Amino acid sequence: MSKVFVFAEHKSGSLKRGAMELLQAAKKSGHAVIGMAVGSGAEVAAKEMGHHGAKEVHVIKDPGLNNYNPELYAAAVTFVLEKTQPQILLASASSLAKDLFPKIAARMNTGIASDCTELNISGDVVTAKKPLYSGKAFASVCFENSPLKIVLMRANQLPVSSADTTQTAQIVEHPMIAVADLKTILKEVVHGASEKLDLTEANIVVSGGRGLKEAGNFKLLNDLADVLGATVGASRAVVDAGWVPHGMQVGQTGKTVAPTLYIAVGISGAIQHLAGMSGSKVVVAINNDPAAPIFQKATYGIVGDLFDVVPKLTEEFKKALKH
Ligand SMILES: Cc1cc2nc3c(=O)[nH]c(=O)nc-3n(C[C@H](O)[C@H](O)[C@H](O)COP(=O)(O)OP(=O)(O)OC[C@H]3O[C@@H](n4cnc5c(N)ncnc54)[C@H](O)[C@@H]3O)c2cc1C
Repeated sequence: MSKVFVFAEHKSGSLKRGAMELLQAAKKSGHAVIGMAVGSGAEVAAKEMGHHGAKEVHVIKDPGLNNYNPELYAAAVTFVLEKTQPQILLASASSLAKDLFPKIAARMNTGIASDCTELNISGDVVTAKKPLYSGKAFASVCFENSPLKIVLMRANQLPVSSADTTQTAQIVEHPMIAVADLKTILKEVVHGASEKLDLTEANIVVSGGRGLKEAGNFKLLNDLADVLGATVGASRAVVDAGWVPHGMQVGQTGKTVAPTLYIAVGISGAIQHLAGMSGSKVVVAINNDPAAPIFQKATYGIVGDLFDVVPKLTEEFKKALKH
């Protein structure tokens, strides 16, 4: 039996959906599942990891890991990997992981497949699928001569069932990690105003584009998102216009999302935008131009003025969700 190591991201102890997906996929593979959690709330996350299939979870209690520092994180993960010697490593393809794991792969001289949308573990053979050229092509990736196979999976790609609280993990705590000659020191972290779920993890995304005309009209989308429990995204046109922060941008040079429902409001559907949302399961487009390219990607299209359609949708969802 091989060992599958899952690096689990969490928010103050609450596991992110991507971590649950990976733990459950690792368990399904039939291999022993080892987890790792760091940062504030790691002990709480470690317990939850047990409920999703981890047999053993490593926690490093170092306050230096409460915020992401590449050098410290690389040292911490390498330390646990050397102790546990897994054959497969899974992590979500978050911005943090896409920065961290190439460093780990280089240190350990192993292969890495990043930003994957499909994962198959059959015995010791690991294959993954990843989009190329903004989703215009797909690559199948397998590993050769790689004692550790690292796969970074996009969130919302794998099924997740509810936690089984009868399953528990053995928690192994480690003291602080000492890194000599630390080159970068994190001095301050300024959090954004939004407490909403990260776009990449959201199950429903409502995105707005230039059709909204001005920044203040994003209120229409915030109202709809509040009713649906959705997170609000945006096209690059409105980010460039300074209406919303870059953290909300969906697309080739923004975030990649794969929610169950993506509602595109006043967005034309440029190829660079589609690159970030074409993995969505159901797409609803609202646009007053019937020839807008977004309709070619849409499961349902509403041709109409968003200022008329969106408030009506919000009202109807409000009524429907009351019952
Ligand atoms: C290298 C590169 C990277 C890029 N990366 C990204 C990226 O990551 N994400 C991204 O989004 N873009 C990206 N872009 C930009 C992209 O090409 C488009 O310019 C951008 O997506 C357009 O944004 P939009 O759809 O909001 O605006 P527009 O293309 O101007 O579309 C606005 C839409 O609103 C509709 N509309 C107007 N009024 C109404 C109304 N009252 N009711 C309903 N509909 C209305 C219009 O019919 C139109 O279809 C990138 C471009 C380049 C070159």
